[in-house]
Amino acid sequence: MSHIDPGGQIGQKTPMKLYIKTFGCQMNVHDTDRIKEIMGKAGYESTDDPSKADVALINSCTVREKAWHKAISEAGRLRSRRRRAHNANHAVIGVVGCVAQQEGDHIFELLPGVDLVVAPDHYHLLPELLFDLKKDGIPRAVIGFDKGEPEDFLNIQSIAEANPVSAFVTIMKGCRERCAYCIVPTVRGPERFRPSSDIVREVEMLVSKGVREVTLLGQKVNAYNHAEASFVELIRRVDSISGLERLRFTSPHPRHMTAELTESYGLIDTLCESIHLPLQAGSDLTLKRMGRRYTAAEYLDVVRRLRAAVSDIAISTDLIVGYPGETEEDFEQTLRMIDEVQFCGAFSFKYSPRPGTRAAAVDDDVTPQEKASRLARVHKKIEMLERGFRKTQVGKVLQVLVEGEGRMPGQLSGRARNGQIVNFTMTGELPLREKRGCLMDVEITRANPHSLEGRAQ
Ligand code: SAH
Ligand code: SF4
Repeated sequence: MSHIDPGGQIGQKTPMKLYIKTFGCQMNVHDTDRIKEIMGKAGYESTDDPSKADVALINSCTVREKAWHKAISEAGRLRSRRRRAHNANHAVIGVVGCVAQQEGDHIFELLPGVDLVVAPDHYHLLPELLFDLKKDGIPRAVIGFDKGEPEDFLNIQSIAEANPVSAFVTIMKGCRERCAYCIVPTVRGPERFRPSSDIVREVEMLVSKGVREVTLLGQKVNAYNHAEASFVELIRRVDSISGLERLRFTSPHPRHMTAELTESYGLIDTLCESIHLPLQAGSDLTLKRMGRRYTAAEYLDVVRRLRAAVSDIAISTDLIVGYPGETEEDFEQTLRMIDEVQFCGAFSFKYSPRPGTRAAAVDDDVTPQEKASRLARVHKKIEMLERGFRKTQVGKVLQVLVEGEGRMPGQLSGRARNGQIVNFTMTGELPLREKRGCLMDVEITRANPHSLEGRAQ
């Protein structure tokens, strides 16, 4: 294929430019950071402008149909831009992420013009693959899963450069839960846990570079269980790292919220008072059909235990509406659960069938109109609760980890331990670089639609 000239680091005077468009979940956003780091070490500079890119990557999740559709449109845009551009010889188009694993080299037929397909366990190979592509112009697809050996996890070390205040740390790969609707076990592979000693080393490295908050990342993060440590032992070890101020994890599964874990809230200093605990649905019948392996009452029991440990813990969730067989009555049980738990936020989705899942074999019988209407009803309720939650924060003094400049000139911005974004003013003229990574007590003076405002004390 003669149109390819990805260049590469060797002998290159000006750095090659990398553009990445990301669709989907938090894990994907984290993966994009890793790709930038891997490519950065190979001499590539990131750009937000696809027309300047030598390599344009689409990193797409396939967990929901919508992300896949967006990725297809983006590939089309990149292709037509390449056709129009003067430097048409320079743009490589690559597809990475779960979509790459799902479709493999089939992507070359689905999206003609794509030169490279790389699944999540192989991002460390990207510079080498681009170099080979330059040499022979042959499109390549690298998919499949690694074995989860300690050295495989070394390939996924987090970056410290992009955001020195807060970082994600992967503690497990894949998932073996097999919820009936979910494609993750197919595209992210079997469950593999990273040794705790490795995780601790990575957090220590991050802290030495200025990170103050880490979020332990995994599809069923609290199912973590390695010969070296259970999940609670792991969080205790991470908590004891000197210089680390805050610890979070995402996403936990309700059925692994043991008493030991819920009791850790309030006892482990760095563990923040917020949790994202996916509920998915409020009806026991729907939960059973989803293969979630807990009931609404069991979920409420987890919530009760969490609130017994920390009364004002902020609980957010994931919800799916319009699951096959979900009646109006089932759906109303989801609405009732939202009220009962008093979530402070939620990601809510219309059910979409994913290839190869058990649910995809069942009739997708809730009409698109009904799904849209149920989603709108969930959004309305969640929005009200979000606003209500933020209002309860006015007058409180919250500890904020400063991350950068605020929305308005002169303001600083950061997150409270409960996960809320706080924009605040302060007296004194310390430059931002001296404030970044500091913990400040901020009195909350106002609740805005998506953030809080305050004054440092
Ligand atoms: N491992 C996490 C979630 C991973 S996927 C967990 O178990 O909670 C992120 C979210 O996407 C899920 O929580 C679910 O709400 C949503 N999701 C997954 N598959 C879906 C599908 N087929 N249709 C609609 N939403 C889906
Ligand atoms: Fe998917 Fe269920 Fe695993 Fe989450 S726990 S990734 S929803 S199979």
